Amino acid sequence: MDGSIDCGTFTRMLNEAAKRVRDNQDLLTRLDSFGGDGDHGTTMVRAVGQIEKVLCAAAESAVTIGALLRDVGWAVMGVDGGATGPLLGSFFSAMGDRLEETGHEAVDAGRLAAALSAGLDGVQKYTKARVGDKTMIDALEPAVGAANSAAEAGRSARDAILSAADAAEEGARATRSMQARFGRAKNLGPDSVGNEDPGAVSVSLLFRGFADGVKNDG
Ligand code: ADP
Ligand code: MG
Repeated sequence: MDGSIDCGTFTRMLNEAAKRVRDNQDLLTRLDSFGGDGDHGTTMVRAVGQIEKVLCAAAESAVTIGALLRDVGWAVMGVDGGATGPLLGSFFSAMGDRLEETGHEAVDAGRLAAALSAGLDGVQKYTKARVGDKTMIDALEPAVGAANSAAEAGRSARDAILSAADAAEEGARATRSMQARFGRAKNLGPDSVGNEDPGAVSVSLLFRGFADGVKNDG
């Protein structure tokens, strides 16, 4: 076992991510009720439901890692109810596009980090939000950065995911003291300070689920 990640492990990572989100639906709804419209919990549960459907369908056929993530991306993109579907959907689909060239091979840290960077670029096509604007970017960008640092340091793909999960959580925590500059919470102005951004927390839950998936890997 060289610490790279194969299609079976990606499947486990996505399933664990779905579990994390489902277990925290009420938290996400509560966070979105401060500055948003309170739908983030249900939207995220719908999104992970779509992910699970794709995983079930993929279990029946021999898909590549790239194709799996691209299908996940398109399924999440189709989730209506606001900003989350297009933003998270483009993250997964851009990752899938980047991994398409890997075929059935397991992904090492370098390729994983490159795919995560492509995913972040995909999200940034939809939003100009940057770190500090109190959005999901505040969790996603540090997560992707941590995975790249781990890869550059010669660590394994699994270690890269574990570092990414820690960084995403730290990033989500940091949104508590930020003022929202994008999304519905922007309307609150200074009153948006004091609670974590729901989208950032969702991203941290997804990455913690990915970490659960690599840890449970045989
Ligand atoms: P909506 O705000 O459309 O109801 P959700 O409640 O599902 O969508 O998701 C809200 C989250 O989406 C926010 O907490 C934020 O992280 C993210 N978000 C919303 N708008 C933007 C945007 N323009 N750029 C980046 N992230 C955004
Ligand atoms: Mg909302």
